[in-house]
Amino acid sequence: MKTYAFAATSADEPLEPFSFERRAPRANDVVIEILYCGVCHSDLHTARNDWGWTNYPIVVGHEIVGRVIDVGLDVTRHKVGDHVAVGTMVDSCQHCDQCRKGEEQLCREGNTQTFAGVDRISGEPTWGGYSKHIVVRQEFVLQVPEGLDLAKAGPLLCAGATTYSPLRTWNIGPGSRVGVIGMGGLGHMAIKLAAAMGARVTVMSRTPEKAADARELGADTFLVSSDPKAMEEAASTFDLIIDTVPAKHEIDPYIPLLDVDGTLCVVGQIGPLAEMNSIPLLLGRRRVAGSAIAGIAQTQETLDFCARKNILPEVEMIRMDQINEAFERLERSDVRYRFVIDMATLTKPQSDAV
Ligand code: NAP
Ligand code: ZN
Repeated sequence: MKTYAFAATSADEPLEPFSFERRAPRANDVVIEILYCGVCHSDLHTARNDWGWTNYPIVVGHEIVGRVIDVGLDVTRHKVGDHVAVGTMVDSCQHCDQCRKGEEQLCREGNTQTFAGVDRISGEPTWGGYSKHIVVRQEFVLQVPEGLDLAKAGPLLCAGATTYSPLRTWNIGPGSRVGVIGMGGLGHMAIKLAAAMGARVTVMSRTPEKAADARELGADTFLVSSDPKAMEEAASTFDLIIDTVPAKHEIDPYIPLLDVDGTLCVVGQIGPLAEMNSIPLLLGRRRVAGSAIAGIAQTQETLDFCARKNILPEVEMIRMDQINEAFERLERSDVRYRFVIDMATLTKPQSDAV
């Protein structure tokens, strides 16, 4: 189907209006009109080719909220008019052990990403959410729970689910001690979610000006990561640290902050980290782990948990044509704390007007 979007055409050009063909809907597909799309740092990494695998032109965006406008003949889970959401994946093999467990993000054949992926049947590229419509097989479409603010729900799909997942993996609950490194899109959701699970939450940030916001979001303690005395005083005090830093960095300063058997889970940097000293790992039987997004069932669980606990991201709403300015601000960590694009502001390119 023909639709339109904002696309990146190279690593150093601004995003611009773009018309393209999405794959034709199949019998198990849902056609969605996109109403809102969150702006994840992964969108920026991809548009700028930070990971080296971007093919241009590319339409990014994987925090999608919309309304069903059509369904294929075999669709039973969703109907026209439903408010639905799409996160970071649109398909997986559906038959390996991980997919059968509902861990499609760990699909043995590799999941199909919402953008920069390849459709498993037609071989066409997948295009993300900075666009008017998306076509997704029904199993990968989430239901937005009644009462959740549609304009703010988008960031729960990636920033929310990506931090919810390790909190569940490491059984965070009342009395757990959780540290969060980096207070941006993922970090601020980690604070809210961990606090709602009953944990004691500490933020470790480069930016002292975020201290008051951190407390408002539910953190008990705020550490400026460049303050050696504060870091030393926090030694051996965490069960889990979620590291959301989006660039190569040292994790050595944070390992001694874990208690015995504690885990530092990397969710931010996707690529090399600085060299690491094993001594504090060995001496405290500490662990360094990683986690990527969440399975479909757990992403739905994130939405349901947030609806039940009344948790929403802090959002700066932007127009589609403000995306380049938003990317520049995101690069400088100047966002409180997630941009969301109001997709009603995306208009049809004039060349398509007839
Ligand atoms: P973001 O909104 O830019 O937040 C990152 C935060 O990290 C910033 O607000 C800043 O917080 C801190 N920070 C930024 N640059 C830093 C640097 N060079 N050194 C130390 N701290 C730095 O980004 P996001 O959307 O939360 O995404 C974070 C990362 O997660 C990205 O790399 C993204 O690609 C990745 N990601 C991974 C998954 C996954 O499945 N694992 C899913 C989504 C995103 P302070 O000012 O508080 O220090
Ligand atoms: Zn993301």
